[in-house]
Parts: sequence; C-alpha cells; structure tokens
Amino acid sequence: MDLPGITEVADARLGIWRPGDAWLAGGTWLFSEPQPALTRLLDLHAFGWTALQVSPDGLDIAATCTLAELARQEFPPWQAASLVGQCCAALLGSFKVWNTATVGGNICLALPAGPMISLTAALDGVAEIWGTGGAVRRIPVADFVTGPGRCRLRPGELLRSVHLPIGALQCATAFRQLSLSALGRSAAVVIGRRSPSDGALVITLTAATTRPVQLRFPAPPGPDGLLATLAAAAPRYHDDVHGAPAWREAITRQLALEVLDELERL
Ligand SMILES: Cc1cc2nc3c(=O)[nH]c(=O)nc-3n(C[C@H](O)[C@H](O)[C@H](O)COP(=O)(O)OP(=O)(O)OC[C@H]3O[C@@H](n4cnc5c(N)ncnc54)[C@H](O)[C@@H]3O)c2cc1C
Repeated sequence: MDLPGITEVADARLGIWRPGDAWLAGGTWLFSEPQPALTRLLDLHAFGWTALQVSPDGLDIAATCTLAELARQEFPPWQAASLVGQCCAALLGSFKVWNTATVGGNICLALPAGPMISLTAALDGVAEIWGTGGAVRRIPVADFVTGPGRCRLRPGELLRSVHLPIGALQCATAFRQLSLSALGRSAAVVIGRRSPSDGALVITLTAATTRPVQLRFPAPPGPDGLLATLAAAAPRYHDDVHGAPAWREAITRQLALEVLDELERL
C-alpha cells in the first residue's frame, strides 16, 4: 500500500523521535493499511541487533528477529523449545509475512492473536524497553500488553528485546490453539508449563482474552481448582470477527482443561 503521508524513512539510530514518527520493523502491518497520522518511519534494522542469543540465563530475542529466524533456530535441549515452532505456526501469514514480520512488531502491535505475545508471555518473557535519552526499563510481556492494540510503550520508546529465563525454558509445555476457520487468526491460545523442579504450573491465556492472563499454581490444581481460579481471574474476552466472547470463553475453558490434563500426565 502507498503511504503518501510518509515523507521520510530514516535510520532509527540517528532519528530523534518526534510526533508523526513510527518505528519500522518488518512493515507487514504498517504497509497493510492507511497510516494518516504518520509522516516518518524510523527503520529499526539499522541497529543491526543479533537476532537470537543463547546464554546460561536463557534466550534473548532481538525485537527485529523475524518469525522465520526464530522458527529455524536450533536450541539447546530445552523442553519448552517445541513451543517456539507451535507459536510461529500460529501466525498464518504468507511466505513474505513469515520472513519479514518481527517478534517485536508482533508484540508491539498487541493484537490479541499475536503469537509472539503468547510465546513470550507463557515463558515469563521480560521486555527491555529503550526510551529517549538512553533510559532503559523492563516489564514482563504479560503486563506489557494492556489490551487490543495497546501496550505500555510511551511516546518515543521502543522494544529492544525480550529475555526468556532459563527456568521457564526448561519446563514441559502443552499448547492448544483454535480458530473459527481453518486459516483464520487464533481465537484462543492456551499454553501451560510445568516446572521439572517443583511441579509448579503456569497456564497462560491469550488470543481469546483482551490481554494475556496467567494462572499460577504451586501444584496441579485438578479440573475444579483450575476452573475456579479461571472464574476468579474473570478475564475479559475479546470480541471481533474471529470469534464472539461467549464462544471464546467456552473454548478457553475447554482448552485449559486439556492443557492441564496433558501436563498432569507428565
Ligand atoms: C496475511 C497477514 C496475516 C497476519 N496474521 C497475523 C496474526 O495471525 N496475528 C497477528 O498478531 N498479526 C498478524 N498479522 C499482522 C502483522 O503482520 C504481524 O503482527 C507482524 O508480526 C507485525 O510485525 P512487523 O515486524 O511487520 O511490524 P510492523 O508492521 O513493522 O510494525 C507494527 C507496529 O509495531 C510498531 N513496532 C514495531 N517494532 C517495534 C519495536 N521494536 N518497538 C516499538 N514499536 C515497534 C510499529 O511502529 C507499528 O506500529 C498479519 C498480517 C498479514 C499481512
């Protein structure tokens, strides 16, 4: 799509942020619809960040890492590594989208169906945010996304990277995803993980809910305990063409029970 209001595309390292700017990552969303409020794009690829860095502490994913780079990476024998491919595959884009869409763009766009939100929230990912003047702050991804199309970025801030801690990567995981149609966007994604050290269980709900919701249990709670905790959390269910709230709530309950059952069998 032509964006006639854009008069400049600048190197993100050099541009001083001003109203009308937007950070340009893969551009798969930015170039997919009119952007009447924008006059300049600041290209994040100019930073040349290393896409993925494995360390004894876990995994650091640069915001500019593409879904394709993430999906083809070979990881150490972390139990949760299988979740990476499952979440990347949950974005049913074309070859072009798959190869240009970035992890950071997916998280900052904050669509409920954002599979990189599902992945990084479920593994207790922590977002590193760069502000103007060299300020750096960190927020759990589960708190970073606050609603459909909304996140905690302030004007001029950018998402630099997400850190996935080793403790979460070593957990066994269970993944469920459902869409209204075969090639549709995710209507519900439920991811569970179980700690190999103490058996603690975390179930993360995305896509169905307006923002990530995490349910934490010191031990597997059983179906009734799970449903009671889910009811107490009272998530807000998203409403759009990809699914009505009541349906999303019903399938989330079902998928959460399946995830619990799978993790309890381990
Ligand atoms: C065919 C198709 C299918 C799609 N399916 C899905 C889907 O299933 N789920 C889904 O969530 N999305 C989907 N999308 C939307 C979009 O393509 C993806 O969310 C993609 O991951 C966005 O990443 P990007 O790098 O292209 O972001 P861009 O388009 O470059 O940017 C998106 C937004 O995030 C901002 N931004 C990007 N990076 C940063 C950063 N590091 N710091 C601060 N702000 C930043 C940009 O300024 C912009 O506002 C789809 C798009 C298409 C065309």
